[in-house]
Amino acid sequence: MIKPTWAGAGLLALVFAATGCTAEQKPVAPTANGATTSQESESTGTQEPEAGVTPSLGVGDPKGIDWDSGRGTAASPNPDPSPSGWYPAAFGSKAKEQGKTLYLTLDDGPDAQTPAVLRLLRKHSAQATFFVVGKQAEAYPDLLGDINDQGHLIGNHSWEHADLTTLSRSAVLADLKATNRVVGTAMGGCMRPPFGAINQMVGRSAASMGLFPIMWTGQAWDWRPPASADIVADMKRATRPGAVLLLHDGGGDRSNTVSALRTLLPYWESLGYTLKGVPACE
Ligand SMILES: [Zn+2]
Repeated sequence: MIKPTWAGAGLLALVFAATGCTAEQKPVAPTANGATTSQESESTGTQEPEAGVTPSLGVGDPKGIDWDSGRGTAASPNPDPSPSGWYPAAFGSKAKEQGKTLYLTLDDGPDAQTPAVLRLLRKHSAQATFFVVGKQAEAYPDLLGDINDQGHLIGNHSWEHADLTTLSRSAVLADLKATNRVVGTAMGGCMRPPFGAINQMVGRSAASMGLFPIMWTGQAWDWRPPASADIVADMKRATRPGAVLLLHDGGGDRSNTVSALRTLLPYWESLGYTLKGVPACE
């Protein structure tokens, strides 16, 4: 992977109506350090080519997927959104054919708990996929660089966690592009819709930018956040070959998630699982 660049960050100050506390997690709070707007005038003439405009996708072709099916909504935390056919299109085969592989995904960062998550992943030689929020990436460029430097994969989780299904197509494209610009060449070929809320328009818009929508097969609702033991129990229940597991390293205090990972990473190791990045996000 290539070191990300920050020139051109924050070109778009997109303002979306805040959505309520919802399915995948509540909206990302404004960054504490006020860095989100201070870089907007720093664009130079030497910036890297825009990332995310390449049409090539990581694995399959998502155009044929009916993203309206099992789309998830911001108001219903359960069941998990699962548009028919997304998994084999994203991974090239069914989950049960993935063998002892788990795909741990961490959403809504980078944020205060990201360093602790990275330390644990390194200790257990585990690779994860971080679906980052553009505003957070802009506020914490060093953390984003650490994620990339340590060999994890990075996907697009929108600019500030809006429900993309409520936006126009042009607004969806602008939102995803803003995050791509901040992340630069470290951005992989995938995205995750905030709240898991996706429809045909969002799925096709993302795909047109070379971003494959990646949902999940199991989560622990750690954005609420539950006790660490409950996160562990939910993750254990969701553990199976090829599982795409959703946890959060941002969007609020995620110390219970970090604590749960201290238990889960050795547990997964003991079962013989290898944690890998989502191939479509390479
Ligand atoms: Zn999220």
